[in-house]
Amino acid sequence: MQNNQRYLVTAALPYANNHLHIGHIAGAYLPPDIYVRYMRMKGEDVIFICGSDEHGTAIEMAAIQEGIQPREIIDRYHFSNKKAFEDLRIDFDIYSRTSNEVHHKTAQEFFLNLHEKGILFTKSEKQLYSEKEKRFLADRFVTGTCPNCGYENARGDECENCGSNLSPLELINPRSKITGDTPVVKESTHFHFPLDKYQEKLEEWLKSKNGWKQNVMNYIKGWMKTGLKERAITRDLEWGVKVPLEGYDGKVLYVWFDAPIGYISATKELFELRGDADGWKRYWLDNDTKLIHFIGKDNIVFHTIIFPAMLMAHGGFILPENVPANEFLNIGGQKQSKSRGTGILVKDIVAKFSADSVRYALAASLPENRDSEFSWEDLQARNNNELAAILGNFVNRTVVFAKNKFGNKIADRTESTPESEDLFRYVSSQAELTGKLIEEFRIKDALSEAMNVARAANKYFNDTEPWKLIKTDKEKCGSIINDCLRVCFSLAVIFRPFIPGASDKILGILGIDTASITWKDASNPAIPAGAELGENMILFPLIEDEEIKPAEKQKEEVTSSAEDKTEDGLITIDDFRKVQFKVAEVLECEKVENSRKLLKLRLKVGDKEKQIVSGISEYYKPEELIGRLIIVVDNLKPSKLMGIESHGMLLAAKSGKELKLVTVDGNIAPGAEVN
Ligand SMILES: [Zn+2]
Repeated sequence: MQNNQRYLVTAALPYANNHLHIGHIAGAYLPPDIYVRYMRMKGEDVIFICGSDEHGTAIEMAAIQEGIQPREIIDRYHFSNKKAFEDLRIDFDIYSRTSNEVHHKTAQEFFLNLHEKGILFTKSEKQLYSEKEKRFLADRFVTGTCPNCGYENARGDECENCGSNLSPLELINPRSKITGDTPVVKESTHFHFPLDKYQEKLEEWLKSKNGWKQNVMNYIKGWMKTGLKERAITRDLEWGVKVPLEGYDGKVLYVWFDAPIGYISATKELFELRGDADGWKRYWLDNDTKLIHFIGKDNIVFHTIIFPAMLMAHGGFILPENVPANEFLNIGGQKQSKSRGTGILVKDIVAKFSADSVRYALAASLPENRDSEFSWEDLQARNNNELAAILGNFVNRTVVFAKNKFGNKIADRTESTPESEDLFRYVSSQAELTGKLIEEFRIKDALSEAMNVARAANKYFNDTEPWKLIKTDKEKCGSIINDCLRVCFSLAVIFRPFIPGASDKILGILGIDTASITWKDASNPAIPAGAELGENMILFPLIEDEEIKPAEKQKEEVTSSAEDKTEDGLITIDDFRKVQFKVAEVLECEKVENSRKLLKLRLKVGDKEKQIVSGISEYYKPEELIGRLIIVVDNLKPSKLMGIESHGMLLAAKSGKELKLVTVDGNIAPGAEVN
């Protein structure tokens, strides 16, 4: 299909004064990544834009409190968040920053355009000024007594005790948050944007919008009903985009005004890097482009009212086609908040679990229409009971069967049964449905339809009973396995937008080039009969109970069990003698299937042999251990780990992310006692 249509997809610019948590990801980043991956597989022309929002009082304040420059704050969080996105395989075409020169220039030009058209107006306002600091104090720089409840440490913008919105001038006994200085009231002149004058135009434009989400429309209606009001677009601050006019020293653009322009400057930067300096114009100035803003609900007003009004005022720019905002993702019933310690940081979760597991579990709980819940148990259950038990299981049983019964080759397809035709008709209609749901921004439903394909595939395998058929009719059995391998291909395509890592692995096993995959391949999965399959691998290692315990809980358990022993933490020599430490030689060692942590070791201790299971797989490869002399606790009660018996425990030293086995200095017979 030949068309000129193109898509400009943006994800909300994260504020660079904090680490991203998974609520952010579920709100504004995973949905567009899935959408963009799908649209590209469909052959659409799409660019995907994001970057750090690096101005505003919160950053300047944080810098002052830490005694460092704002630049250090934004560098810290910009690079940390950029890496968090990469680790989760959220692949922007560019992850820019509003502190870049191209942004300052673009935002200033935007301001001047409105100024020269006479759209902006200035207004003098009373503001708090610190004589000692020689600066106006923005709301967050002031603290004082709340006029409503008497709370003594109310902020300049809000009282955290009674929740009332405040302005610094309403505070009783206001003081500078930084120096404690008592400010004076002084006049300051600021530029304003007449948002009220755009209400009618906005309402007209919004009327033409079909298919916007109900939650988004409800917010918009609320704002419109209250009536739009003029807004100050400059403020007295050091850190930000300077007002590009003489006589306005010490004034910068308000961050709500400069941040959304960041989408435009990031696009400019992207095409500059691509050596096509004017390329950005195709995406921002051409009506054949559809602009889609993915955001969380706290940003709805900026993307559906304020930024569109700014774009209208400037003229020439396209307006958003859709703004599929999500609600909030709660952890254990609480809104994610770093200050309350309820958030799960992206950098922490990706350090422990695969991007695919996290992406799948979050996509399955997206807060698309209302706030949703997420817990560590959800992550474990989604991974173990769905990814591993349904999708991973089907691919694994098919590939293992082909390996064992057909020499690891793709068997010939010799016949087509009604069951097989039904299956492929279903796969094809599901691929279409999944795609349609993604295009309607119903990502959660799309994922659930994708998993239904894997369910149908398992049913086909069960119903056709290839393990019986292999004994009576190898040719027909081969045909069924060929069907199953083709469905593996379809599954790799349908799941590709959601879990790109697993999709790559499945396609790798099938020997298919990932670069040329299109959405159509799901309905027409062609694989060459006779070709050799790649090496099978575990797609989704099971997540064990102890992996999902929060760190604090693990610590508590360690402390309490230590306290059980003695009151002063010391043990007697008799206590120590109860433990038999012995030297053991590692005879055999292998990974425990479906476990990311466990190794199974066969040991020689004296003249007996024993098996132990140990959680050191992340630190040692099985082959590195064979022949080594290690120290074990020989008289530990046997236990079972993932169903495998363990008769003892090996000793290892652990520090942070490092782990080293305890060994002996030189050679000694296995079974030697350690005292
Ligand atoms: Zn109050």
